[in-house]
Amino acid sequence: MRAAILHQTGQDKLEVRDDVETVGFGPGRVRVRLRATSLCHSDLSAMSGVLPQPAPFVPGHEGAGDVTEVGEGVAGVAVGDRVVLCWMPPCGVCPHCRRGQGHLCVTSLRRLGAPGFTFGSGEAAVEASGFYGTGTFAQEVVVPAGSVIKVPGDMPYELAALIGCGVTTGVGAAVNTARVEPGASVAVIGAGGVGVAVVQGARVCGAARITVVDPVESRRERALGFGATDAVAPEGLKAAAKGLEAGGYDYVFEAVGRAATVRAAYDATRRGGAVVVIGAGAWDDQVGFSMAELFFNEKRILPSMYGGGDVLRTAARVIELWRAGRIDLAGMITHRVGLADVNEAIAQMRSGEALRTVITLD
Ligand SMILES: [Zn+2]
Ligand SMILES: [Zn+2]
Repeated sequence: MRAAILHQTGQDKLEVRDDVETVGFGPGRVRVRLRATSLCHSDLSAMSGVLPQPAPFVPGHEGAGDVTEVGEGVAGVAVGDRVVLCWMPPCGVCPHCRRGQGHLCVTSLRRLGAPGFTFGSGEAAVEASGFYGTGTFAQEVVVPAGSVIKVPGDMPYELAALIGCGVTTGVGAAVNTARVEPGASVAVIGAGGVGVAVVQGARVCGAARITVVDPVESRRERALGFGATDAVAPEGLKAAAKGLEAGGYDYVFEAVGRAATVRAAYDATRRGGAVVVIGAGAWDDQVGFSMAELFFNEKRILPSMYGGGDVLRTAARVIELWRAGRIDLAGMITHRVGLADVNEAIAQMRSGEALRTVITLD
């Protein structure tokens, strides 16, 4: 089957090959014929090495398709089910899962680098992992049964793919982590796919003011179409925050993943408000706060990974909201390419031009 491979961390192009095979099918696992995948910024971060992933690997972690085979002991999912992949499947039994925090599951964290594919033939065959335990830039994957989430049979594959990471992450940050209340003031730093999903989540929660912050004018304009009430360039955030009655926003979401933007988010938050950190940044990028400001301003710092809650429940909520017309998924897709042109999709994402590029896997 066809898949795209990154041979070495730091390379900026993938190799599309037709001699890739899945490995590891067996008890407790499922085989999925993927139909659509989308490109999330984390794929680029894994390629560059900001997010650790052993190379060679197949990038991609937002993917949807149909189950074609189920291993022994698999319950709750059957051949023919339409599914979206979940890159942090809760094991259900580790201490974090038992506390209702399946998105922090340590069992699945340990599995993220396991081999999922081979490419090349005979003696020269090479093992490759799938990014975040998935690897959706491939026509087929074999994953633990817990890594698939059933979606309605009439949900288009390309829309289902979006909820595999970015949309669930953004909507969940507003709904689960921040619990934005009606009438709240919200700022969202970063108007990419996750940022736009936060905007939509904040709108669903009833936020009165949703300011989007991004250096690129076209991206700011685009976010207004998803429910943002106003948009500013980064240098305008301070003035916008000072203009609010409380001297800052109730919630500032950081969807970039850099220390400098977390610091800007902190400064734009009102006393007693909350900074929600969604961006996946580097291990050595240090952010600083003085002890006095941490204590006296009582601003809460709320990191939010993968929607900050039960992933299955967040995904189910997103599907219901989409069905009710309260979340726009189709509008988030700005580009479409075939897998042969995956490097084009990567270039569009790097340039900031794409909100979500869907890669079809026919
Ligand atoms: Zn677990
Ligand atoms: Zn992602």
